[in-house]
Amino acid sequence: ETITVRELAEKLNRNPAEIMKKLMGLGIMAAINQTIDFETAEILAAEFDVAVESEKTEEEELLQEIVDDEANLVPRPPVVTVMGHVDHGKTSLLDAIRKTNVVSSEAGGITQHIGAYQVEIEGEKITFIDTPGHEAFTAMRARGAQVTDIAVLVVAADDGVMPQTVEAINHAKAAGVPIIVAINKVDKPDANPDRVKQQLTEYNLVAEEWGGDTIMVPVSAKTGKGIQQLLEMILLVAEMRELAANPNRPAEGVVIESRLDKGRGPVATVLVQKGTLRVGDSILCGLTWGKVRAMVDDRGQRVETAEPSCPVEVVGLEEVPMAGDIFRVVDEKIAKQVSAMRLDEKKREEQAKTARVSLDDLFKQIKEGEVKELNLIVKGDVQGSIEALTQSLLRLSTDEVKVNVIHSGVGAITETDVMLASASKAIIIGFNVRPDSKARKYAENEHIDVRLYRVIYEAIDDVKKAMGGLLEPEL
Ligand code: GDP
Repeated sequence: ETITVRELAEKLNRNPAEIMKKLMGLGIMAAINQTIDFETAEILAAEFDVAVESEKTEEEELLQEIVDDEANLVPRPPVVTVMGHVDHGKTSLLDAIRKTNVVSSEAGGITQHIGAYQVEIEGEKITFIDTPGHEAFTAMRARGAQVTDIAVLVVAADDGVMPQTVEAINHAKAAGVPIIVAINKVDKPDANPDRVKQQLTEYNLVAEEWGGDTIMVPVSAKTGKGIQQLLEMILLVAEMRELAANPNRPAEGVVIESRLDKGRGPVATVLVQKGTLRVGDSILCGLTWGKVRAMVDDRGQRVETAEPSCPVEVVGLEEVPMAGDIFRVVDEKIAKQVSAMRLDEKKREEQAKTARVSLDDLFKQIKEGEVKELNLIVKGDVQGSIEALTQSLLRLSTDEVKVNVIHSGVGAITETDVMLASASKAIIIGFNVRPDSKARKYAENEHIDVRLYRVIYEAIDDVKKAMGGLLEPEL
């Protein structure tokens, strides 16, 4: 949302020159017809003792935002995702944790794979997302849902840091999620945990015992060694993050998994993030809606309520929602109405899709103050050229635009790269590599700008020109 200096002056009943002067005081040089963002307008209006409100959309009018009072927040369990290279033991670790530490107070119940589960340790709960890997994590993020509080990075002690280890690190960092390293397979004779720690320093993950601030725990998913300690460390990091939510309000959360069940109809596993979800609640969920008919927990038990960080299977939705969809409890009539509005909106959007960030309109967005950081993903055929290209691109940063390379790696441009680009509003630069067919399709659908080059200089020149507003639109 933006407003021009002139419009703001009119609204505030002030001389535009006065506004421009105040803007200068904030370090912003703006001409009379230039647009400024809503936050800036807000600060400025406050200086004139005026409170501004952004205009609400029809949907926002219907869905009253609930602001939680600090006083009503209570600690909630952390939500953890396990990531790492293939075969380093993600699934084994999730299984081992599930077996050794099932919340056992209410006896009975066989563990069910519903997409997430909770364990209890020293009276405290931890929620694990049952789909390991950064792909699912970033796919959700691309849809606007942030579910993970802590990432456990699994690195096999006999294999060390591998390409997907690096991807996982970059995906977690792009999401701003703290990383705990589980150095797995330490039972193996050729395990070398120190080599793993050494390799990780290259990615700014320095073990605490080496003077850094990354917790690294040697574990074995096979023997169970270190798992207790890993769980304790997760709780420690959670405690430092002061994770909290208000359980006494209408629930809100995210869909983790969904499917169509023959007998029960649409079934969605949701993670409650705020409030308490109850059987009988009406929920708006992505494009669909429904009334919660029944809820089942991770041990197959029927439950009546689900509190923050609690995963439950929900029955009663009209349609199958998508993983990453956000749900919230609202009045039934509003749920129906907004769901219909969203379906309409989606149809309209599909008819007129526009690019998110492309090099071509980058300059325009910089001018309008929309882009202050340019996120890039760099893929190439050899490590040497990727490094050279990355270094040169980083040097293009100016006072107005900071260039970030959020991920780089050897190999073709994959679907995961495109998802990360979508989640982080990034542009993908391929050097002597191309997107695979899935990635190309995904990029087309999501309108992610993928640029392919064979000459390093040309890539740098394009980004530089775009930042300066000189780029000719690509034909
Ligand atoms: P994922 O691809 O990361 O999910 O890895 P998996 O959990 O499927 O494990 C890959 C292989 O490593 C399997 O054959 C596991 O049995 C084995 N594995 C996993 N953890 C350990 C461990 O701690 N010690 C040993 N010796 N093998 C393990």
